[in-house]
Amino acid sequence: MGDWAASQVNEDRNLSMLRECADGVVYYRFGGLSQANDLAHAALTRIGGVSAPPYATLNLGHTVGDDIGAVEENHRRALSLFGFEVDQTVSPYQVHGARVGLVGRAHRGTVQPSCDALVTDTPGVPLLLRFADCVPILLYDPVRRAIGVAHAGWRGAMANVVGATVRALVERLGCEPDRVWAGIGPAIGPCCYEVEADVVAAVQTACPVDARISRQAAGRTFLDLPGVVRTQLQAAGVSWIEDSNLCTACHVDEFFSHRLERGTTGRFGVLMGLLE
Ligand SMILES: [Zn+2]
Repeated sequence: MGDWAASQVNEDRNLSMLRECADGVVYYRFGGLSQANDLAHAALTRIGGVSAPPYATLNLGHTVGDDIGAVEENHRRALSLFGFEVDQTVSPYQVHGARVGLVGRAHRGTVQPSCDALVTDTPGVPLLLRFADCVPILLYDPVRRAIGVAHAGWRGAMANVVGATVRALVERLGCEPDRVWAGIGPAIGPCCYEVEADVVAAVQTACPVDARISRQAAGRTFLDLPGVVRTQLQAAGVSWIEDSNLCTACHVDEFFSHRLERGTTGRFGVLMGLLE
C-alpha cells in the first residue's frame, strides 16, 4: 500500500470534514482523504460565487436557468483554487442512471453524454459533478492511483450506480475494492428526505433490506439515501468509508437543496482530480 494508505489503516476512518475558505469560496474536504498528497478533492458549497438568487451564489449548473456568464465565472473561481483550468475538467450529463464513463486526457473539456459517474487513472483530468440533494460518492485507490465520482439520487440508487462505479474501477482500471477509499458527500439526509412508500420499495429492489433505509414517523416515510449508498458500497466490497454527515436540506445556507427550494435552485460541485 502507498504511504498514505498505510498511515490510515490503524486510524479512525470517520475523520470529520474540514471546512475551508479561499478567495471567498467555501468548500469541504474529507479529513482522511485530505492527507493524500497526490490528488485534489472538494465538496464545494454555494458560497463564493457571483450568481443571483435563487442560484446564489456559486452555482455550477448550466441547465437550471441561471445566467451562463455567471456560471462560467463560478467555474473559473472554483477550479482555480485547486490549480485546475475549466477546460481540463470532465463532467457527465447526469441522467439518474448507472452508466459509468472511463475518461482520460482526450476527454478533457468535454461533457460525457448520459452517465452518472466518471472514473479515471490519468493525472490532470479533474472530474466535476453537480448536486442538489443527490448523493456524491468519491472513490480513490491509492495504490492503483485511480479515482471515481458518482451521483446517486433514488433512481441512481435503484440502478445501483455505486456498484457500477466500483465495478468500473475494478474491471477497467485494475483497482481492488478492499483498498478503495470511499467518501459520501453532502446530500439530503433521513432527517429531511420524505418519500412515498413506493420509492422505498423501488430502492430496496437494488439494496439489501436494511434498518437504515427508511424510518416511519407519524405515518410519514423518510429515506436514508446516504445509508443506502453505504450499504451498496459495502456490498461492492468497499469498507473504508468516510461519511460527511452533512444534510443539504438542513444546511441550505451552504448547499443547494432541490427539495427544500422546491426545484428552483442551483447546483454545487464535487471535484476530484489526480495531480500531475
Ligand atoms: Zn436534514
